Amino acid sequence: MKLPMLMQDQKAKITQPEISVIIPIYNEVESLEHLIRRISDTLDETHVSYEIICVDDGSVDGTTELLRKQVDLYPQLRGVVLRRNYGQTAAMSAGFNHAQGKIFVTLDGDLQNEPADIPLLLAKMSEGFDLVSGWRKERQDAALTRLLPSKIANLVIGWITGVKLNDYGCSLKAYRAELIADMNLYGELHRFLPALAFIEGARIAELPVRHHARQFGQSKYGLDRTFRVVMDLLTVSFMKTFLTRPMHVFGLLGITFTGLGVLTGGYLVFLKYGLNEGIADRPLLILSAVLLLTGIQLFSIGLLAELLMRTYHESQSRPIYRVREVVQASNSEN
Ligand code: UDP
Ligand code: MG
Repeated sequence: MKLPMLMQDQKAKITQPEISVIIPIYNEVESLEHLIRRISDTLDETHVSYEIICVDDGSVDGTTELLRKQVDLYPQLRGVVLRRNYGQTAAMSAGFNHAQGKIFVTLDGDLQNEPADIPLLLAKMSEGFDLVSGWRKERQDAALTRLLPSKIANLVIGWITGVKLNDYGCSLKAYRAELIADMNLYGELHRFLPALAFIEGARIAELPVRHHARQFGQSKYGLDRTFRVVMDLLTVSFMKTFLTRPMHVFGLLGITFTGLGVLTGGYLVFLKYGLNEGIADRPLLILSAVLLLTGIQLFSIGLLAELLMRTYHESQSRPIYRVREVVQASNSEN
């Protein structure tokens, strides 16, 4: 009984690459060939073993067909084709789950990240870090709609999570695989991986990397993305208790109501004891009591909902994505 397991382990070790490069891809057909060539050229030079995992997040522009052709040219390349478009976080999560390397490297599929920076991240990792995050010091995106919201988001995320990075949004990152192997990602959470990892005790570094303007296709995001990120940010602010969306609504309402209740109550106390006025017949007395009680109730409902959500997320086995097929070289053994 023990022997086959041992052999399996050994086989896993022999085939385990050092590096898994993970790329979420949604309609990037013009960039794909060039990107894969650049990555494999770069990594061939470093002489580390690697695999490239392209997660096709429901592309409809021919990316999937091109990926099929590419896997025959690059034995290290695998395509994980999702059933539909699930979003970047889900696609990354699919990539993590299919990756076998000791170190995961993520980057975007639109050539905005520089593949030649990957060895720099790996060098930094070897200094003893568990996660190295790229910093797009000279980011080539629109100033008002992208750079400004990011700047604010980075400040707030750093402030809330205690992990101060200049650029949470940079996709080019390297992680020790065991760090994120069983992390439960959803929403826009992929960008908070450094903060999540920090809670797990990870040593984190940030490294300036190059950034290029998008050459082909369009960004998949607009201002609505910023809103979603902010909502997830609030979620992350409760990270130690985890996964708490309902708290955003109930908590805020509860605090507002309680706050108003305290204010009006304070005013009444001041009237009674400061100015010696009777308050028993004032409608404000009832309002104040109602506000206070409602506030406390709303807050408690929020707490309960938070617990429910947490139980829900942790108990559900439903994945946040579904795989249609895995494409790889036809002569591949895996
Ligand atoms: N992406 C994805 N699924 C989506 C949206 C985006 O896999 O639903 C991929 C996209 O193809 C790209 C990366 O995520 O490789 C980042 O997206 P994008 O370049 O549009 O974002 P930006 O650089 O504008 O922040
Ligand atoms: Mg991009």
